[in-house]
Amino acid sequence: MLRSTAPCSLALVAALALFPAAEASADGPSDPAERPATWDMSIDELKAVGLGQTRAAPIPVQPSPDKQADVEPKAAKHGVVFVNFDAITVTMGFDDSKTNVSSIFGQEFAAFGGAESDRAAVMEAVRSDWAPYDILFVDERPAAGDYTMNITSPTNPFGAGSGVLGIAPLDCNDAMANNITYAFHGAGDGFGPITAATTIGQEVAHSFGLEHVDDPTDIMNPVNSGGDPTFKDACLPIVQGGTCGPQHMLHCADGTSQNSHKELLEIFGSSIPDTQAPVVAITAPSDGDTYEVGAEFRIDVTVTDDNAVASVQLFDGDAALQVDTSEPYGWEVVDIPEGVYEFTVKASDPAGNETVSDVVTVYVGVEPPPPVGDTDTDSGTGGLDEDGDGGGCGCRQPSPPGQPGPRGWGALAVGLFGLGALRRRRRTA
Ligand SMILES: [Zn+2]
Repeated sequence: MLRSTAPCSLALVAALALFPAAEASADGPSDPAERPATWDMSIDELKAVGLGQTRAAPIPVQPSPDKQADVEPKAAKHGVVFVNFDAITVTMGFDDSKTNVSSIFGQEFAAFGGAESDRAAVMEAVRSDWAPYDILFVDERPAAGDYTMNITSPTNPFGAGSGVLGIAPLDCNDAMANNITYAFHGAGDGFGPITAATTIGQEVAHSFGLEHVDDPTDIMNPVNSGGDPTFKDACLPIVQGGTCGPQHMLHCADGTSQNSHKELLEIFGSSIPDTQAPVVAITAPSDGDTYEVGAEFRIDVTVTDDNAVASVQLFDGDAALQVDTSEPYGWEVVDIPEGVYEFTVKASDPAGNETVSDVVTVYVGVEPPPPVGDTDTDSGTGGLDEDGDGGGCGCRQPSPPGQPGPRGWGALAVGLFGLGALRRRRRTA
């Protein structure tokens, strides 16, 4: 709910409330042709075929006292990840990849081993998984700048027979830079580069606040189910967590699911410069619709973007009303006061490209002005022509004498939203 500090007339006070819209959103199953049979197996079945190892629950990172935790969501930034294949000794403390200080372990880790081509195969698979995002994966330690370091080593502090493939600090919104993550893989261990890349990707993503999801198609699934999972563009149920709720709720309204792909896009932006603005329209109500005072109706918005939609903001004339940051986009309105409303929505993508929809004018308890030349004063909803000008649109002209005039939009905004409630549509779980 928005509150205004501006004084407002009680006569303008209205209640606009939004109710949950029953829309589910989940991508369908993967293309069956690409879906390995192991993705539909139980843990026991996976273990019978040599899979079913797990990646340990991430450990929430502790903010370092000498570093300012940046807990606010940030604009997309370029990321760097150093995949370390060499032998390394870490000491325990607050995470600092640059000085080999880890919040999880203090010990030696053996080198990944194998040939240069073994390491290159892992890097190729990791880079493929992360290709959509503006993040660079390197296997040489950067000389400067922030980076997450993933230690890729057959040394497994949980024990060789533990079936644990990796662990990482969980760092919501990537608040603390320079984390250290772990993937317990070595050359020739039988897992192969794709599974090693999945472990590395999952552990690194934990250091950006992504949690485990209960779906074998997503890299964030904690169980090794084989195949070649990706960061899925779908709200998938979170398991063993829910620590980074606000981060997940940017894209999945109920906070119990996670869209791994959109979260990484949010943090790092797209690897491809985004110059294409969203396409947005108000699909309901229709331009020129009339309602009784106190009516209920829904403002439905359709918006698409080639990458992702960051937000949709509702305007009444020039007055900015509410922002909706997750699907389904729109608002439900009840108890609307008398007036003429000029609704538009502005859609933004993560790169800052913006599009404003066409205006939808709605008359509440007010006769739409008759079109120019139309002598029928009882025109109701039929008085406006389609394009708003061809037949002489009266919708921007003053009301005839004796009828309520259009209201000032500033005052209207105070009246509608200063004390009323306008809530965005929410998905029902
Ligand atoms: Zn994990």
